[in-house]
Amino acid sequence: MQDDFKIDVVQHFFQNLAPKIKDQVKINGYIGDTKVHSRKPFDQFNALNELFNKAVQAEYQLNRESNNIKEIMNSHSTFMAIPSVNVSTAEKAIKSYKETKTLNCWGCGGDHSWWSAQLQKVVCPKADDPAAQANAAARFNAFKEKRQKRTDNKKKKKRIETIFTEVLTGVDADDDEAIRN
Ligand SMILES: [Zn+2]
Repeated sequence: MQDDFKIDVVQHFFQNLAPKIKDQVKINGYIGDTKVHSRKPFDQFNALNELFNKAVQAEYQLNRESNNIKEIMNSHSTFMAIPSVNVSTAEKAIKSYKETKTLNCWGCGGDHSWWSAQLQKVVCPKADDPAAQANAAARFNAFKEKRQKRTDNKKKKKRIETIFTEVLTGVDADDDEAIRN
């Protein structure tokens, strides 16, 4: 006849499960952790086997749920792009870095700005040169077009975001739009 176990292996196994799995096992109706188990090896193995199967099932459920969430997030990459303060701050920093790195005068092509946004005036030393003025005008028009396109894209993106947020939370689209604006 085999000796009884010195510890309750079933309890030990349960207590050492990852907290998420422990919770899921309980949600699934496991009550073995509230019982005092017989320490006889046969009973311990049976009880342990039952708990082990429940733990595997719980882990499978949790993985399936987290995979579903990952899939939703991947198929809606805009979800990841919902604006936050940090993102816009980083964007601004990158933009100003790029601007200082690639200074290229719209008028004469020199290593300075044609227009100073800070001073609100043309700062190119060749500002009076008609050729420089023509260049700057052409570059400004191209810039305006590009900016318009960017604005259109932003509007499109915002619409997709709104739809997705609506699906996720059931929030009324108009309310949501009002919160954002
Ligand atoms: Zn210049």
